[in-house]
Amino acid sequence: MPELLEVETVRRGLLTHAVGRTIKQAEQLHPRALNPRSIGKLQSIEGARILDIRRRGKFLWFVLNRPEVIAAHLGMSGQFLINPVDDRHTRAKFRLRKGLKNSELHFNDQRTFGWVSIEEIADGVPTSVLSIAPDIFEDSYDQKSVISDIQRRNIAIKTAILNQNIVSGIGNIYADESLWLAKVHPEKRANEMRSAEVERVLESAKEVMAKAIEVGGTSFDELYINVNGESGYFDISLNAYGQEDEPCPRCGKLIRRIKFANRSSHFCPKCQKI
Ligand SMILES: [Zn+2]
Repeated sequence: MPELLEVETVRRGLLTHAVGRTIKQAEQLHPRALNPRSIGKLQSIEGARILDIRRRGKFLWFVLNRPEVIAAHLGMSGQFLINPVDDRHTRAKFRLRKGLKNSELHFNDQRTFGWVSIEEIADGVPTSVLSIAPDIFEDSYDQKSVISDIQRRNIAIKTAILNQNIVSGIGNIYADESLWLAKVHPEKRANEMRSAEVERVLESAKEVMAKAIEVGGTSFDELYINVNGESGYFDISLNAYGQEDEPCPRCGKLIRRIKFANRSSHFCPKCQKI
């Protein structure tokens, strides 16, 4: 599943390949490609010019020279591709033009959990993004209030940082890595943590994710905007996630894996005390 970092890479790719282009034609090719909340058909944005690409958590939106935006969520397998050779999984298609140059932007989605939609803006974000909290890289992210929100919750710290209404964009892999870096046990109760400790977790998340964005940013292919979570773009070295029975890089104790919701948590039983 694409995490925030993959979506950020897609955003940067779209900044290069889509901004400044006019949408000459927009076409929906699969019944589930358009979110039911869309206020219009895709064709309704034909003629609009793309001014910017924004992101919050895993949501993307195209700012147009109109009041509406094109919002998008990549779901499990969504991708934006420029002039792809293979269009078997193309769910929506945009013909773009800049001067005499034409290109085709495809929304490709094999598992069809992703979507695009035409939406209005409220409080600076598309309506489908309203309940999603800012992510740690946004200007509107307010770490002080996120810390006190987390400290009010009688839940595990890992559950708290994965909650998209508290802080968005931290997925399972980066949650484990952040908690390892901060030396905090994933099951520690959020309401029993000191501010400085919660702050350390959030700062660690920033550090881990910023590092991964750098790696992703340098390996981005010019012509191929790919967001497949399994593509290995974010080939960062993992210290905890997926490292069961491997020695902790900090202390040498073996990393443990425990069940967490429907997934797993990986942590060092020595460095990460509850
Ligand atoms: Zn350790």
